[in-house]
Amino acid sequence: MNGYAGTILRVNLTTSEIRKEPLDEKVARDFLGGRGLGIYYLWTEVPKGADPLGPENKLVASTGPLSGLLVPGAGKMDWACKSPLTGGYAGASVGGHLTAEIKYAGYDAIIFEGISPKPVYLFIDDDRVELRDASDLWGKGSITTEEILKKRLGEEFQIATIGPGGENLVKYACITHDFGRQAGRGGVGAVMGAKKVKAVAVRGSKTIPVADPERFWELAHAMFRACKEAEGLGPWQRYGTTIVTSWCDEVGALPTRNFQQGSFEQGPNLYGQVMRERIVITDKGCFACPSPCGKYSYTKKHGVFVEGPEYETIALVGSNCALGDIEDVAYGNYLCDELGIDSISAGNAVAFAMECYERGLLTPEDTGGLDLRFGNAQAAFALLEKIARREGLGNLLAEGVKVASQRIGQGSEEFAVQVKGMEQSGYETHNATAMLLAYMTADVGAHHNRAWAITYDLQVGRDRVAPEKVARVILLQHIRPLFDSMGACRLQWVELGIDVTQYAPMMAAVTGIERSWEDLLKISERTWNLTRMYWIREVEGFGRTWDYPAPRFYKHPSTGGPTKGQLTPFEAVQQLLDMYYEQRGWDKNGIPTPEKLAELGLTELVR
Ligand code: SF4
Repeated sequence: MNGYAGTILRVNLTTSEIRKEPLDEKVARDFLGGRGLGIYYLWTEVPKGADPLGPENKLVASTGPLSGLLVPGAGKMDWACKSPLTGGYAGASVGGHLTAEIKYAGYDAIIFEGISPKPVYLFIDDDRVELRDASDLWGKGSITTEEILKKRLGEEFQIATIGPGGENLVKYACITHDFGRQAGRGGVGAVMGAKKVKAVAVRGSKTIPVADPERFWELAHAMFRACKEAEGLGPWQRYGTTIVTSWCDEVGALPTRNFQQGSFEQGPNLYGQVMRERIVITDKGCFACPSPCGKYSYTKKHGVFVEGPEYETIALVGSNCALGDIEDVAYGNYLCDELGIDSISAGNAVAFAMECYERGLLTPEDTGGLDLRFGNAQAAFALLEKIARREGLGNLLAEGVKVASQRIGQGSEEFAVQVKGMEQSGYETHNATAMLLAYMTADVGAHHNRAWAITYDLQVGRDRVAPEKVARVILLQHIRPLFDSMGACRLQWVELGIDVTQYAPMMAAVTGIERSWEDLLKISERTWNLTRMYWIREVEGFGRTWDYPAPRFYKHPSTGGPTKGQLTPFEAVQQLLDMYYEQRGWDKNGIPTPEKLAELGLTELVR
């Protein structure tokens, strides 16, 4: 199978049985790889109603057909499972070098099943695959574990690990790779922890078959050349994702004090330019990346090295908690990485607790004596540690802000900023209807990477509610996850303006299957709809109300900055959903119609 290693590695942790089985050609054709494979295996293999932290749940690590090839940014893979945070689908994409190594070792995906009786790590050296004792690593931080395993096994091994957050089943624990790249969202690290898998270490030496090598080289050269010549390359490489921090602050999209407003009075201290001058040491990229956006930093104030902070961490651990010193944000980032918790959800949890504290809903007794006022960096650091170790208030916040707000009550549900139980990522959406809709309808919860529409809002009118806006969100929800299925980074398209349709001939050259760009988008739509069906199957009463945004954005106007006094009225929220469901071919409750499922060839599968 051109573009694929052709083999799935199945690891049963309960019995220690390791099996290799051929990748089903039809499944690869219908779902491509990465994200598509993840939801396919969840749908077909994880029984309805499975406990996300129990033995029936599976953790699927999958590569795509482009992963490991010389295609710009072809170092992406996807981790999927039933989410312990939301009870629905979790799919987390990560870059780095692991995906290429898994392909070189001869596998398209690794499926973890069952629960190991003791801590283990999965060792893969081409055909040699073993579960090894990890008792001595249990309790150690993610970065520390990666260092130890690199020393023990060799630098060429690519490692993914969990930290104490995953071991302690924090519902938004992440999986860390390459000293700071994260499969961050939805609690994939908690599922790995529940399975008692501390790490995966992979080395491979095989090749990946390509259908038409000549055509492939031609296209690959053209894509790399276009990246190199792109006007945006310089600034992107210099600042990475932090390039948007100043823009977000200026237009009122930078979440501040638990999304109460979109502009931070100390925001300029967190801008990309300041970060570059003060803490960045070097740039760092994923496999085959022509535009490395990773920034490797050192904070003198705290004496630690860290990859980042990226924009999302600046927004959630920084302005959203009102931390106005980039070195404090870098240290918060380091803590999240080492502890193995998603900095987006963790930043939200700390900011939520800070707001509860300032409103008197949490007392010093509740916080264990922490003075949780916005801006108190030491208190934020202490709370991150408590979350990862599930101590005191940290134990409650480790459940996510939805559950925490339900337990605290007293109206705190109104400012728990989440959709479907997942904390919202770094864009303030009091008045940005496309971005708001993107959060409402993203297939994991309030995550930006399915449709990043905030700049589009500013271009066409941020409070506009119109079919074109909805259509744009849907198109993005097909394009961006398609990259996660192909196994490539989307940022060369987003940031460097690489013509997205070039990926169709590239996929054809690699796989030997001629498909147009529209054909590929159709596959992405199939994946999107199967994911929706997964939510419907797993979450009782799932439907329209699960797509509602946090009341913060439709009930409580923004308190400051350019959007001061603004909100999105609830009628507009309903209009957006009506248009969205209609354009998607779903009914008024957000359920895909039989006609839509038939059009996508899903009728048999979801029966
Ligand atoms: Fe990785 Fe950034 Fe390059 Fe994408 S642009 S491949 S995320 S380094």
